[in-house]
Amino acid sequence: MQIIPLHPNDRIQLKKPHPCGGNIFLVLRVGSAVRIVCEQCGRDMTVDRVKLEKAVRQILETSNAPSPEKKGNAQP
Ligand SMILES: [Zn+2]
Repeated sequence: MQIIPLHPNDRIQLKKPHPCGGNIFLVLRVGSAVRIVCEQCGRDMTVDRVKLEKAVRQILETSNAPSPEKKGNAQP
């Protein structure tokens, strides 16, 4: 089995197209569930990570950012 590395801002192509006809999605948030938005119609949805990994055909673009998890930590 293959583990697919997913990062926020990645563009992924899924095997199964969205009802609108597009199959390119942008990753918004990664966790135990992944939030993706359809590039064609702009609708977003949350998919189980396990399910999504099975549905990914290929990763088109990856941002490969180390871990920009923390931001806006207001310290004087
Ligand atoms: Zn769509």
